[in-house]
Amino acid sequence: MKFADIRGQQDIKAHLQNAIARQKVSHAYIISGEKDSGKMMLAEAFAATLMCEAHGPDACGECHSCKQAWNHNHPDIRYVTHEKPNTISVEDIRQQINNDIVIKPYASDYKIYIVDEAEKMNKAAQNALLKTIEEPPSYGILLLLTTNAAGFLPTIQSRCVTLELKPVQGDIIKKELMEQQKIPDYQAEVCVAFAQGNLGKAIKLASSEEFNEMKSHMTSLMRRIGTMDLYGVSQEVKELETYKSQIQDYFDLMNIWFRDVLLYKATGKEENITFQDEKMIIKRQAAQCSYEGLNQMIDAVKVAGRRIASNGNYNLAVELLLLSIKENMV
Ligand SMILES: [Zn+2]
Repeated sequence: MKFADIRGQQDIKAHLQNAIARQKVSHAYIISGEKDSGKMMLAEAFAATLMCEAHGPDACGECHSCKQAWNHNHPDIRYVTHEKPNTISVEDIRQQINNDIVIKPYASDYKIYIVDEAEKMNKAAQNALLKTIEEPPSYGILLLLTTNAAGFLPTIQSRCVTLELKPVQGDIIKKELMEQQKIPDYQAEVCVAFAQGNLGKAIKLASSEEFNEMKSHMTSLMRRIGTMDLYGVSQEVKELETYKSQIQDYFDLMNIWFRDVLLYKATGKEENITFQDEKMIIKRQAAQCSYEGLNQMIDAVKVAGRRIASNGNYNLAVELLLLSIKENMV
C-alpha cells in the first residue's frame, strides 16, 4: 500500500509523510476511524514508506522491502493477533509486543507493530502496553487502530499521537466507485449517500448482493405503499421480518429516499436525486406529498428506529411506520 493509492485523508497523509521527511516519527500512534474507513491502509502505507529502501516520501512499491510489506511478510512489520474474538489480552500484548520489541529489527531501521481493533485491549492489556509506550526502544513504533480512541486509558491516549480519519467527499467516492470498481452511475449515487464518507464501506456496499437486494426491496415498497390496502400492509410487515438484523440500514435507505423526494420538491432539480433509476416515482411523490407529510414520514422512520433499538416490539414498530407512510403518501 502506498500513500498515493489512498483516497481522501489528506491531513493524515501529510502529517505522516512530513514526520518521515523530517525524521520526527513518533513511537506510538492512534489511528481512529469507523469500520472500513481505511485505517489499515494508512497504517500499511506508513509502515511500507518507513521501511522502503528508496527512502522517499512514499513507498516505491518496487524494492525488496516494499514487496515484503505488500505480501505481509516483512520481518519488521508485525501484525498483533488475538485468539479470543472480542479481547486482546495481556498475554497477547506481552508475547507479541513487549517480549518481541526488545529484539532488534531484522532488516531495517524500525520495527513496527500494527494492532488492529485495538479497542479490544482490556485494561490489563493496555497497562502492559503502557510500559512499552513509556520507554520504547529507538526503533520501535506502535500503531493502534481503533474505532473508539476515547476508550483507551488516558495514560495511553496522552502518550500517543492521535490521527482521526475524516469522511471522504462524496464526489471522490463516486469517482472511485465508477472508475475503479466499474459501478454504474445510478448505483454509485446510492452507495455514496449511504456510506456517508466511508470509502471502504461504499466499495463493500456497491459489490454486496445483500445490499442491492435490500435496496430493491425498499424501492419496491416505496412504489407500492401509497396504494396498498391494510392486508397488503400486514403482508409487508411479515416480509420485513427478513430484514430484522439490518433494519437500521433499511431505515437509512428509506431516509435517503424521503430526502430525495423532499429535495426534489424544494428544488425541482433532477440531478439532486440519489435514486436516479427511480426518478419518475420520486418526482410524482414530490408532487403529491405535502412538506408536512414528508416530515411526518421522516419522523416516523426515526421513531421506528428508536423503538426497535430500545428492544420494542419489532413487528408493531414496523407496522406503525408503514401505516404512517401509507397515510402521508397519498
Ligand atoms: Zn520500496
